[in-house]
Amino acid sequence: MPSSKKLTGKPDEIAAFLDRFDVFLFDCDGVLWRGDKLLPKVVETLEMLRSKGKQVVFVTNNSTKSRRAYVSKLNSLGIPASADEIFGSAYSAAIYISRVLSLPKDKKVYVIGEAGIEEELASEGVSFFGGTDPAERAEISEADYEAIGPNASVGVVLVGLDRGINYRKLARAHGYLQHPETRFLATNIDSTFPTHGGLFPGAGSMSAPLTYMTGREPLSLGKPSQAMMQAIEGRFKFDKKRTCMVGDRINTDIKFGIEGGLGGTLGVLTGVSKEEEFLNGEVVPEAYVDKLADLLG
Ligand code: PLP
Ligand code: CA
Repeated sequence: MPSSKKLTGKPDEIAAFLDRFDVFLFDCDGVLWRGDKLLPKVVETLEMLRSKGKQVVFVTNNSTKSRRAYVSKLNSLGIPASADEIFGSAYSAAIYISRVLSLPKDKKVYVIGEAGIEEELASEGVSFFGGTDPAERAEISEADYEAIGPNASVGVVLVGLDRGINYRKLARAHGYLQHPETRFLATNIDSTFPTHGGLFPGAGSMSAPLTYMTGREPLSLGKPSQAMMQAIEGRFKFDKKRTCMVGDRINTDIKFGIEGGLGGTLGVLTGVSKEEEFLNGEVVPEAYVDKLADLLG
């Protein structure tokens, strides 16, 4: 069974590790912050990496925020960042739809999800409906049994975290997915996400009932899916061998880095995965630290 090496903060060891990389892909929640609380010395650690000329990119599965909202969040926590350093799963899905699928202008996306997804689809010029539209909150009526169903003008059903999900939205998505040419995409398929009160159902728990209903699996545009890596590569030119993925979650971040052929993966113990999993898992990061600030040496 593979095992991970703990970096204990010895300056030579840290310097040798950092020297191998030019680019650091940072998972956000569990690495930089937990919920709204910045983790210790994160600002200083990012400053240190930037002062050494390293490129930093923030890669998050959280589909509820757009890149613009992420810039605000990072800045409010004292982390300087610009929109082109941010890569969220809502943006990843929007790029995939507009640039990879090249969705024709007469086709629309039906959204189960929140404002971050709508903002990123709009930024890519993609037509959509559903999402936060108040009309989506209504109960199903008798007339809906006839009105809801497959529709050739719906090119994609896109599912992300939607804290207002209801029967109407599931019924609509189910109806559209009956059309063989309507694609089924998910921003990410995390079963849960961490909150200050513990784990809550994640975006993957919104698409799973649709898989049950239709027998179809969504293509995920979030970590660990390599569709997200392709979307990132479409945006930034970087040498994968000189890139390190930093994350707290084995089954999303670390798997994403390893399957993507990145030069390194670094686990942190400030999030979801536990030390035991880094030491004795099927998939483990190359190295791990207790917290990001241990990179300060
Ligand atoms: N999805 C949602 C809705 C979240 O709120 C979070 C974290 O807060 C995540 C996913 C996981 O995000 P990350 O990839 O930054 O850990
Ligand atoms: Ca995380």
